[in-house]
Amino acid sequence: MRRNSRDAELRERARLVIPGGMYGHESAALLPDTFPQYFARADGAYLWDCDGNRYVDYMCAFGPNLLGYRHPAVEAAAAAQAAEGDTMTGPSEAMVVLAEDFVSMISHADWAIFCKNGSDATSMAMVTARAYRDRKKILVARSTYHGASPWNTPSLKGIVPEDRAHIITFDYNDLDSAKAAFRSAEGDVAGVFATPFRHEVFADQFLPSAEYATGLRRLCDEADALLIIDEVRTGFRLSRDCSWAVHGVAPDLSAWGKVLGNGHPISALLGSDKARQAASSIYVTGSFWFSAVPMAAAIATLNAIRSTDYLERIVAVADRLRDGIDEQARRHGIPVRQTGPAQMPLILFDDDPDMRKGSFWTGTAARLGVYMHPYHNMFCCAAMTPADVDDTLEITDRAFAELKNALPSLPAQPNERLLQRLAQRR
Ligand code: PMP
Repeated sequence: MRRNSRDAELRERARLVIPGGMYGHESAALLPDTFPQYFARADGAYLWDCDGNRYVDYMCAFGPNLLGYRHPAVEAAAAAQAAEGDTMTGPSEAMVVLAEDFVSMISHADWAIFCKNGSDATSMAMVTARAYRDRKKILVARSTYHGASPWNTPSLKGIVPEDRAHIITFDYNDLDSAKAAFRSAEGDVAGVFATPFRHEVFADQFLPSAEYATGLRRLCDEADALLIIDEVRTGFRLSRDCSWAVHGVAPDLSAWGKVLGNGHPISALLGSDKARQAASSIYVTGSFWFSAVPMAAAIATLNAIRSTDYLERIVAVADRLRDGIDEQARRHGIPVRQTGPAQMPLILFDDDPDMRKGSFWTGTAARLGVYMHPYHNMFCCAAMTPADVDDTLEITDRAFAELKNALPSLPAQPNERLLQRLAQRR
């Protein structure tokens, strides 16, 4: 018998002491009410909510869980460092080792700066690019997510036009649009943000063309601007190198976060020698940026990335899930679109403008013990086994069957806040 009384109580208490009850995309406010907001525990591929319900977790903490929650080698390294010291007056030796290890793995990188969140890394990339030739304009593909700082947060509440005054947008995967953006700021383009593949909420994911990737590199070279790849979400799930290495494209800067410490708080900006002087000239720091425990965790994570078949195992379970869902959707006669790389799955239903089908299906799966997201890309991790996927598929099969029964009279999307978000997008 699944319960959610403790979660409901925590949400009620939170309403009084946390603005809006919860903030950011980690808020469960847009999700069906079978989804918990609070969690008590995580291990391997599983999550437990505060009522003791277990989930196979396809969100992986919105990415950071790459190897499995509480991965033994990572936690042992973190515990050993914690016994010696964590946040101190300066960094530990781990910082140098981590920088050496990381730059040895990423083909374009010659140096690293460590920070805490992905937004720190992307903002630092922006500042470094501006410092490079003392220019102002930053080109960003429309509606791509690069963090929650005033220059890029998706909501405009509390943001003034001056925060975005030097941000120029262009269309993703459209080289002509990028060229027009370059022309509009001729002589003043500092850098261009590139997202490895299109992974925005509510929309099908897609990979860009090789021409787009190489074209952005060429445009940056012609303008002597820096190409910045935002690997915060994609890092080490598509490749053991920067994602566009497959296209032969080396950025000047790359922003990393999420998986770097397999859940421990650490992110990084990597750069090539070309950007070294600019990176040395900016002022960046934070009280916790030098903490040694996340760095020790990151060293162990990178070691596992180099020395195990974690990626091949992730891809294998991800393909198994995708094939299984495809088969079920066809058998139940309920078409879905599974887009993007299988290891970062997104499942959207056809003819579902108000997301009533997607919400019902994921809401049912959550009730039965599988945490899947109705509109945000998901993440697979190396702790997932073929048996976990098979257990998942048993549950999604039931969710398809329940959806099929409910379809003839499926009520309109009841979640007002989700409807508002969908309306804002149109
Ligand atoms: N860039 C991308 C592509 C992201 O997906 C995210 C986080 N979802 C960020 C930047 C910001 O990272 P953080 O939330 O750790 O600040």
